[in-house]
Amino acid sequence: NKKLSVKNMSIAPSVTLAITAKAKSMKASGEDVISFGAGEPDFRTPENIRNAAISVIESGSLGYTAASGLPELKDAICEKLKNDNNLTYSPNNIVVSCGAKHSLSNALQAICNPGDEVIVPLPYWVSYPELVKMADAVPVFVEAVEENGFKYSMEDLKSAINERTKAIILNSPSNPTGAVYTKDELQEIADIAAEKNIYVISDEIYEKLIYEGEHISIASLGEKIKDLTIVVNGVSKCYAMTGWRIGYTAANAQITGVMANIQSHATSNPNTIAQYASLEALRGEQDTLGDMIKAFDERRNFMADRINCIDGISCTKPAGAFYVMMNIRNLMGREIGGVKIENSMDFANYLLDSAKVAVVPGIGFGTEGYVRLSYATSLENIREGLERIENAINA
Ligand code: PLP
Repeated sequence: NKKLSVKNMSIAPSVTLAITAKAKSMKASGEDVISFGAGEPDFRTPENIRNAAISVIESGSLGYTAASGLPELKDAICEKLKNDNNLTYSPNNIVVSCGAKHSLSNALQAICNPGDEVIVPLPYWVSYPELVKMADAVPVFVEAVEENGFKYSMEDLKSAINERTKAIILNSPSNPTGAVYTKDELQEIADIAAEKNIYVISDEIYEKLIYEGEHISIASLGEKIKDLTIVVNGVSKCYAMTGWRIGYTAANAQITGVMANIQSHATSNPNTIAQYASLEALRGEQDTLGDMIKAFDERRNFMADRINCIDGISCTKPAGAFYVMMNIRNLMGREIGGVKIENSMDFANYLLDSAKVAVVPGIGFGTEGYVRLSYATSLENIREGLERIENAINA
């Protein structure tokens, strides 16, 4: 249709959302579906955070805040970045947006010109390539193979860089692989970016959900890389606040200035109630976070160990986030339960139709031979779901 935007008509729908929607509608029509599709914690938002929101509603002070975010929340974000990440920023280095996704969108809009290239790790979180395209830039993929712990080699990173490269998107811990880059690896990426004068968009939304190793923000590895890094984080995953829609960015003031201007016209401030709730999330007690991490770790161990006991499939135990990339390469080309499995989409459809188990096909993350399972669901569901998967593979 030549009446619509050619650029925006090329934006693909999210495969993750499509599969979870299909599973939800099957569930709604009474089918007993177990979903491993979720991209959000299955925990409730902690009570202190809910109460903070209720108080601000009752106070009636619900006007606009500054378009780039509530000043107290920016202060709390600066404190958080100092305490957790050893990063010193001022409030003018911070933009609060409607979720980390919106932060990423603003960041790419702020730095990209038509034809710029942005390096995206593959497998990638579904939105990265589309967000890059929406900013008129071109995604360039660097493969992070399982044999290398789902991390890319520095040689591959270097050979993807040319004079059009504007930025590298870094996502540690990673969705969908759970990979966590070490300090040494981050230092190598930082050195490459600094040498070539390329921005790093560091998506740290899964920062707190680490079970092996530690989270280091690449921006903390020196003044030059700090100046080039756009740190993206938010409250969605770590505080079970996905629906509240608060994310934030920390970067040099030139970048945050452009982002703030874009946001002031596109959305104005993020929801005022959610900003006050996020203030409590960052400054209030952190005990429920520890409970959530403990539960995720237990499920992670159970899921990974169980998968590795099933013939035909395997996985590398992820170090962070709440996803397992299940390797199904050995099933490709086989006929299972009367269905020919040629690719990850065939396998995901087969599981949903025959075993009523929802997983996300690897192709949604740009890679074949895998499906992603989220363990943001109960141990009971994980046990039952994997039982069904085993039976479906043996059918
Ligand atoms: N970045 C990654 C890697 C994610 O997995 C997600 C959510 O799935 C986001 C960003 C977006 O987070 P938010 O819900 O705060 O927009």
